[in-house]
Amino acid sequence: MKRVLVLLAALVASIALAHAAETDWVAYKQPLIAFTHATIVDGTGAPPKYEQTLVIDKGRITELGPTASTQVPAGATVIDARGKTLLPGFVMMHEHLFYPTRLEPGAFYTAMPYSFPPLYLAGGETTIRTTGSMMPYADLNVRDDIKEGKRIGPDIDVTGPYLQGGTSYTEDMHVLTGPGDATRTVDYWAAEGATSFKAYDHITRAELEAVIDAAHARHVKVTGHLCSVTFREAADLGIDDLEHAFFVASDFVKDKQPDQCPKDGAVAKSIAALDLDSASADSLIKLLVDKHVALTSTLPVFATFIPGQHEQSESALALLDPRLREMYESTWKKIQATPKAKAKARQDWFAKATRLEKRFVDAGGLLLGGSDPTGYGGVIPGYSAKREIELLVQADDFTFPQAIRIVSLNAAKFEGRDKDIGSLAVGKRADIVVIDGDPAKDITAIKHMPLVFKNGIGYDTAAIFKSMQGQIGMN
Ligand SMILES: [Zn+2]
Repeated sequence: MKRVLVLLAALVASIALAHAAETDWVAYKQPLIAFTHATIVDGTGAPPKYEQTLVIDKGRITELGPTASTQVPAGATVIDARGKTLLPGFVMMHEHLFYPTRLEPGAFYTAMPYSFPPLYLAGGETTIRTTGSMMPYADLNVRDDIKEGKRIGPDIDVTGPYLQGGTSYTEDMHVLTGPGDATRTVDYWAAEGATSFKAYDHITRAELEAVIDAAHARHVKVTGHLCSVTFREAADLGIDDLEHAFFVASDFVKDKQPDQCPKDGAVAKSIAALDLDSASADSLIKLLVDKHVALTSTLPVFATFIPGQHEQSESALALLDPRLREMYESTWKKIQATPKAKAKARQDWFAKATRLEKRFVDAGGLLLGGSDPTGYGGVIPGYSAKREIELLVQADDFTFPQAIRIVSLNAAKFEGRDKDIGSLAVGKRADIVVIDGDPAKDITAIKHMPLVFKNGIGYDTAAIFKSMQGQIGMN
């Protein structure tokens, strides 16, 4: 009996400890905080402003202007931000709450409702869209717990379960049986609280049309990772957003059969071989811009498949369960050994698809950013938003302020929340990322992110990372 009691007490103590850890993540919770001498990249795409003062009062930005002429209110906690850059909290649009825990035969994804939300926050993400759920009730409950202040993490736009047609490569997914099933599925999950939907790569045009009609009737947006349906067809059906931008556009595959996803890398090959100055590329971009279809860039996941792209950092890999770390590292090594011709084809695919993202923006398109922690692993919450920003600058050739706009104000606009979040401006919520250094001058500075503020509360990112060592894959 005594032994049982001791065991129970130890159990309770360990639970209490886990709870205490969440409060240890808080570095600043004073209601009145002033950053002085800060560099500001405000999220609108405007160039950096130097020597600025930003005041937070009860979770809102109440002052923002030159340090020389902006009064610091009496009683404020002052943070000397010399040498630091403040960015708006990121609004990231492809942030699954699951991770691949088995590759083949038969891929499988496991929900990460405990580790991912704080890790996304520690990587600068103050609002996320889940963009396809494997365990929708877990996502909905996490969202509600964060909203009610019971747990720490970003605001969450919960996307319903994947709307897959035809066939699925994983046991995680329901496969739609036709347009009636599509309507029923959307109606059910919208009623349960999903606030967005995502169509998947084998859906038929008829099913996609039913999805869009049912979702729009409830004023809910639809995105898609498509293949069986082309971007042009989806735009004509009224889709709101397309995941992975041009990396997965099946529009350029010759002899594409309606409602069928072309086999064996045909889509990637067609992009790699695409003449960027051809009328077909231009006319697709024009159609997407004219129909106000947003695109979501998800460069981190594609980079893991491109020979020559660097491996994840030691600090990011330390977050993985050892078996998942081994799965990632052995696959990464195999990819580096890809035969030359095949490696070049993949590099061409990456190069063309990134050029098209830039052209889409230059033509007036709304580009959003996301991580997509899938593939064979190695896209790691806490590090993935930094990687997306780095690649938007290095691969897509955006300026740093443009890249920040893509992961903040653009997404806030798409989410209909740009009056409240998405840029650093007086009146907006104090969602602020603090960088050591000047990433507009040296993009690698983006990795140094000691603090992230959400709603005026400052979180110590190192403390979050420390408590999540080895947790990805477990919970
Ligand atoms: Zn995804």
